[in-house]
Amino acid sequence: MKRVSLFIICLSIILTLWAVPVCGDTVPLFFNDTLMDLNPPAVRHFGEVYVEAQSFLSLLGISAEYQDSKVEYSEANSRLYLSIGSDKLVFGDKVHRLWLEPLYLKDHIYISIRDLAKILDFSIFHKDHFLSLTSPYMGAPQKDLLPRYWIEAVYTGGKIYGNEIIDFTNDRNQGMRDIFLALPAAAVNRESKMKIHNVLVNGLPAVYEAKETYLMIDLPFVLEPFDSCRVEISFDTTVPEGAERLGRSGKISILTCWYPVIPLKRIVPAHVSYGEPYSFKAAKYDLEFTVDVGLQVMTGLDRLESLQDGTKTIHRFKSEGPIRDLSLVVGSFDIKKVEVEGVSLVYAFKDYDEEVITHGAGALKLFQKWWGEYPYTSLTLVDVPLKDYQGMEYGGLLLLSTINRPSAFVIAHEVSHQWWYGLVGNNQDEEAWIDEGLANYSAILYFEELMGKKQYDYFIKSYKKRSQGNSEPIKKAIVEFETETDYSINAYIRGALFWHDVRKKIGKGDLLNFLAYIQKLYRHGAVTTEEIKFLLKNFYPYKF
Ligand SMILES: [Zn+2]
Repeated sequence: MKRVSLFIICLSIILTLWAVPVCGDTVPLFFNDTLMDLNPPAVRHFGEVYVEAQSFLSLLGISAEYQDSKVEYSEANSRLYLSIGSDKLVFGDKVHRLWLEPLYLKDHIYISIRDLAKILDFSIFHKDHFLSLTSPYMGAPQKDLLPRYWIEAVYTGGKIYGNEIIDFTNDRNQGMRDIFLALPAAAVNRESKMKIHNVLVNGLPAVYEAKETYLMIDLPFVLEPFDSCRVEISFDTTVPEGAERLGRSGKISILTCWYPVIPLKRIVPAHVSYGEPYSFKAAKYDLEFTVDVGLQVMTGLDRLESLQDGTKTIHRFKSEGPIRDLSLVVGSFDIKKVEVEGVSLVYAFKDYDEEVITHGAGALKLFQKWWGEYPYTSLTLVDVPLKDYQGMEYGGLLLLSTINRPSAFVIAHEVSHQWWYGLVGNNQDEEAWIDEGLANYSAILYFEELMGKKQYDYFIKSYKKRSQGNSEPIKKAIVEFETETDYSINAYIRGALFWHDVRKKIGKGDLLNFLAYIQKLYRHGAVTTEEIKFLLKNFYPYKF
C-alpha cells in the first residue's frame, strides 16, 4: 500500500520542475555482479547517484510505505524511518545523519547511494554510468540473464552424441574475454569421458581448451555486461557400464552431468567419490533426444512429442521456466501418476513401492505450502539401480535407488531438494551444507508434521550426538574433507542443526517465513553462507 500526502505532492511538483533536467541520466545498477533493474531507475544529481527508496529497499526485503509527512519502511525487525525535511534517518536502533538531502521527484523519494551504502553496509564502485555495489546480500538474477540451451542428442551404443547451442549473456559487471563451461561427466564417473569436437561463437570457429572436466572458450571480442553471444558445441559423452549417476546397467541408463554446462562459479569440477562436485546456473532448455524404439525417456522437462523414425524414436522436451539442470533416465518402466495440487507426480518403476507415492505426494504438498509454489508441471521419481546412494536430486527429476532402497525420510529429503538445490541453488562444491542441511531439516519438519514434536526432538537429539565435538567452520569445500563421514556430518547433520538453532532463537513460524523469503528472493538464483547470515542479522538484529 502506498499513500502520498498533499504535502509531498506539492513539494514533488516544485522539486520535479527544478530537478528533472539535472537528473536526466539513468544509471545501470549492479549488485554483486547481478544487474538490478530499479523502477524507477537510479538518477544522477550534481554528480551523485540517487536511488528511489522504495524500489531499492525492496531489494533488501524491506517494504516501504509513504505516510503523511514521513517515510516509514518496515519488515520483520528491520525498520527504516525518514522524516521529510530532516537530515536524520533511523534504521534499526541507530540514528544516521544523512550526508546529502533526499530528493523528491515525481512522488518518489530518492536517497543518495552513498548514504545508503554507509547505513546498509555495502561498498560502491562507480564508473561513468555503471554503478556496482558489493555486499553480503545478493538478489536473484533476472530470468532473462540466465542461459538458454537448445540440445540435440542421440544416445546409442553407450555414447551420447550431442550438439548444443547456448545463448549466453554476460551478467557480470565487467567485460568477458572467455567463457568457462563445466564438463562434469568425469567428475561424477571417472570412467566417463567427454570429448569436444567443435566450438563456434556467433557462427565462427572459436579457439578453446578442453580439459577433462572443463572447457575454456576464448572470445574473439570483449563481451560487455548484458551483451549476449551464441555458443555452439558438438561433443560426445561416454556412458560407462555401472550403477552410477552417469552409467548404464541392464536396460536402464542414468544420464546426468552429460553435457557442457554453465556453472555457478568458475570452479573446475573435482573427482570426489561422494557429494556433488558441481553447481549449475539455472537455464531454459529445449531438448531433442533420440533413442532406440521402445525405450522411454524420463526427465524433469515438459514432454512435447515423440516421433518414430525407423528403429529410433525422437523425443522432444522443453522447460517453460528456468530449471537447474537437464538430467534423463532411459529405460522401460511402468508409470503411475497422481495429481498433487496442480503438479503431476510421476512415478516410474519396475516394482511398485507405495511409500514413494505416499511420501512423494505428502512432501510435495507440504513443501509447496511452506517454501512456495513448485513451478513445473511435473515431478518425476524414477526407480534406478544406483550403487552408492539411496536417492539423488536433479531439476524436476529424482532418482531412487533399487539397490539401497530409500526410507520415507530420504524420499522427503529428495523432494525438498527441488527447492534447496533446484529453485534456490548454492555452490555445492564449497557450501554443500546449504542444500543438504536444508533438505535434511525439511525432512525433519515433514516428520514433525506427520508424527509430532517428539519425533522432531528425537532427530535433533541424535543429530547432536553424531556431531558432538565437531566445531570446524560449516562452510568447507568438498575436496577438503578427509572422509565421507566428515563431509556427511558437516553438510547433512550440522547443516540441519544450524536451522534448529535458528528456530530456537526466532520460533518455528518465523523460521518458516524466513526460509520462504529466501525462496522468493533467490528463486532460480543461488544463495551463499554469507547472505544467509547477513539476512538473519538484518531481519533479527538482536538475535544474530
Ligand atoms: Zn541431499
